[in-house]
Amino acid sequence: MNNAQLNELKNKYVANGAASPATHFADRAENSVIWDVDGNRIIDFAGGIGVLNIGHCHPKVVAAVQAQVANLMHTCQIVIPYAGYVQVAEKLSQLAPVRGHGKVMLVNSGAEALENAVKIARAATGKNNVICFDGGYHGRTLFTMAMNGKVAPYAGDFGTMPGNVFRAPYPVPSLGVSEEEAIRRLHTTLKTDANPRDTAAIVIEPVLGEGGFHPAPASFLKAIRDICDEHGMLMIVDEVQSGFGRTGKMFAIEHSGVQPDLMTMAKSMAAGMPISAIVGTDKYMDASGPNSLGGTYSGSPASCAAVLAVLEVFEEENILARSMALGEKLGQRFTQWQERFTSVENVRHLGSMAAFDLVTADHKPDAELTAAMCKLAREKGLILIACGFYGNTLRFLMPVTIEDEVLDEGLAIVEACLSELTKVAEVAKVAEPAKAAELTD
Ligand code: PMP
Repeated sequence: MNNAQLNELKNKYVANGAASPATHFADRAENSVIWDVDGNRIIDFAGGIGVLNIGHCHPKVVAAVQAQVANLMHTCQIVIPYAGYVQVAEKLSQLAPVRGHGKVMLVNSGAEALENAVKIARAATGKNNVICFDGGYHGRTLFTMAMNGKVAPYAGDFGTMPGNVFRAPYPVPSLGVSEEEAIRRLHTTLKTDANPRDTAAIVIEPVLGEGGFHPAPASFLKAIRDICDEHGMLMIVDEVQSGFGRTGKMFAIEHSGVQPDLMTMAKSMAAGMPISAIVGTDKYMDASGPNSLGGTYSGSPASCAAVLAVLEVFEEENILARSMALGEKLGQRFTQWQERFTSVENVRHLGSMAAFDLVTADHKPDAELTAAMCKLAREKGLILIACGFYGNTLRFLMPVTIEDEVLDEGLAIVEACLSELTKVAEVAKVAEPAKAAELTD
């Protein structure tokens, strides 16, 4: 079937809220390129939203999954376990910088990981509340929707949200929230709404993902660690988007040296197979009773095989160093654009978790222009995606393994879109060179 026929099926049979606005149907993909069913070649700067840090269909992962499904596809690991699950648990325990000895549970999606992290924190502390951040994103299940720090398009249509979720601002100086202000307001939340006596956890993305690719300063993450310790609350770090090499470390929290109690991870951990994990200090992970966690497909054999293959690829192909190098390259190019185009501001990156904002002539967030950029890029054969509290951030999540010539080709398309849709500065703007965001202090 071709794109036109598949679009007809989509419009007729796929629920509105779940349907992609894209009109190209992917047929096959290799590293950083997708071919659609009509044979069009599309460069992928989204990586399935941060899932494909080691590229589409990495041969090693494909081989591992094929071998696994030919041998054993499913038992339900709580009925009868298999090697992959415990091997993944061992590896993640060794990798994740949680306090003390880490234990692991596997589930299927980022949202499910967050749901379970909250369950575990409640069981471990005997308390109910969680504190999350403005602009934060944790998923589309009922509880994670309540945790998200942005209403539309997530929670707006779905009635009353579960309670016991409170919020504080994330430190983003370009949006007018300094680190001092964010800490002060967090203390306010603890005084006015979320009594520490009843609060189980603070949940934070070390780099705000959907909220706009803003890294939290190391000192802010340390302050959260201290506040959690002071009040017997758990620090939960959500690495679903920032993890698995995107920031040049395996996990973004490593830039700060802070050790959380629980971590959630998903996306690039299995290069496209559905799986997610919660890793946490053993005494917390063991707090709930037998058969209280997990589900039918949690940590399926094929997904576990993919995770083990991905971890080998990280070693063999030096993915962390390549992520840093890609980030530098993106930062330099974005800085040139910031100097040249009046609409480009706030270039930033931590490793290859890279972004910039698009603004109007009077420096207001320009979500319309951002949407137009993504649309025009798509017409020119590039997948480009946006994020940000005001929807005016272009974020870059191409595979870290992208070939140099494909990267250059994709960046040339972004530049062509900027040239067509935005104004060139009459006098070159004096732009601060993009610095790799510093999480260490
Ligand atoms: N947490 C973060 C930080 C995310 O970026 C996302 C997905 N964008 C999620 C949780 C939810 O993951 P999933 O879509 O797999 O449920």
